[in-house]
Amino acid sequence: MSDSSCLFCKIAAGTIPADLVHADERLVAFHDIGPQAPVHVLVVPREHIASLEEASERHADLLGALLLVAREIAREQGLSERGYRTVINTGADGGQTVQHLHLHLLGGRALEWPPG
Ligand code: AMP
Ligand code: ZN
Repeated sequence: MSDSSCLFCKIAAGTIPADLVHADERLVAFHDIGPQAPVHVLVVPREHIASLEEASERHADLLGALLLVAREIAREQGLSERGYRTVINTGADGGQTVQHLHLHLLGGRALEWPPG
């Protein structure tokens, strides 16, 4: 299922260009257009799921794959040794601006904690 008005559905379908670093039958990953770190990649399910709040038990494998693909990309991007951060912003207070579930992979510099 995809949503024809959704930016990340369009990127997953290839109708809006993105700088892809990964694509498989369930997930795509691409460089964030406004990077917050030297490496800032978004990992996105092809299926339109509006947020983590909308995911259900049937998405358990997909959510696991989201993390494992993020780790694979972190390794490919040379982040494994020094570390990196994976983030899913959910809803207004979580800072979610694109209403299609996505995981941020951030690395290449020391990241502060706690987030603002
Ligand atoms: P969030 O605030 O967690 O919903 O994250 C949405 C992210 O999508 C932001 O980091 C944006 O910079 C990023 N973004 C928005 N439009 C695009 C685009 N066309 N290509 C790549 N990243 C995008
Ligand atoms: Zn979508």
